[in-house]
Amino acid sequence: MYRVTAPRPLPVAAGKLSSAVTEQLEQVDALMSTYREDSELSALNRHDASDAFPISAETFAVLAEASDVSRATSGAFDITVGPLVDAWGFGPVATAGPPAPDVLAQLKRDTGWQKLTLDESTRTVRKSSRAIRCDLSAIAKGYAVDRIARAIEDLGCQDYMVDVGGEVRVAGLNAAGEPWRIGIERPDAAGRVVHRILQVTDTGVATSGDYRNFRMEGERRLSHVLDPRIGEPVETGVASATVLHRSAMRADAFATALLVLGEREGIAVAEREGLAVLLLLRDGQGGIREVTSSRFRER
Ligand code: ADP
Ligand code: MG
Repeated sequence: MYRVTAPRPLPVAAGKLSSAVTEQLEQVDALMSTYREDSELSALNRHDASDAFPISAETFAVLAEASDVSRATSGAFDITVGPLVDAWGFGPVATAGPPAPDVLAQLKRDTGWQKLTLDESTRTVRKSSRAIRCDLSAIAKGYAVDRIARAIEDLGCQDYMVDVGGEVRVAGLNAAGEPWRIGIERPDAAGRVVHRILQVTDTGVATSGDYRNFRMEGERRLSHVLDPRIGEPVETGVASATVLHRSAMRADAFATALLVLGEREGIAVAEREGLAVLLLLRDGQGGIREVTSSRFRER
């Protein structure tokens, strides 16, 4: 699901704009989709050896950013969760129930962002554990947003809003000549009610939440975001995390990490990294509590 909005008149033919957008999406998908057997990422995931695997500059850049965010979040963000994501039924293939304890233990041993080694000089990646499989779902949409933004700027478009599956980037002004308005939803699976509107420009905005993509397992609500440190769906009480950053890729990755980190650790990381963050927490009585970082409040 994607959408590009720009005030009229457009500086370029609408058809040209939309084919530039679909071309970027197609390229990112061909490189980084785990749903496509023929993607570069799927080839890396099939690579059952620990020798250096040559990789495109594009995928390398995303892997490098992922590794950076992993370091900054003490492993809360971790693209090697691929096999765990699959085992919990949030990957390309459906599963019957949660993984058995021994399966989980093995999968945890085969997870860890430090098991991937990137070499910039040869543009290769090495897996120290052969079972490592990467999942870029928490960062690739933000990366796609940045690429689309660049492509449409190259076509002369300075005012726009790009939205790829909820990860956004805005620049310039909207049709009313004002900063763009981005609705942050109330974390509620039922309807799409706006909790708050952010008026922003020249920034990426990413939101990660546990309220739309989840499964019920008895009374337990299973989030599609996993805590890589325990190998299980997160239960931190953070219903949604929004990050503003000029790089939508970085915002996307941090938004996912904040669901894992929870309120205290998450805000500490946000302060240390100078990130503008808005967390919505469930108060346990059906209400929502807002927590923000100082950079967010300054805006
Ligand atoms: P969405 O895909 O709904 O926009 P996210 O950006 O938060 O949400 O990405 C969630 C996806 O990222 C999950 O479906 C899973 O494939 C993957 N994932 C789950 N947990 C983690 C994690 N701790 N670090 C990195 N990726 C994760
Ligand atoms: Mg994300």
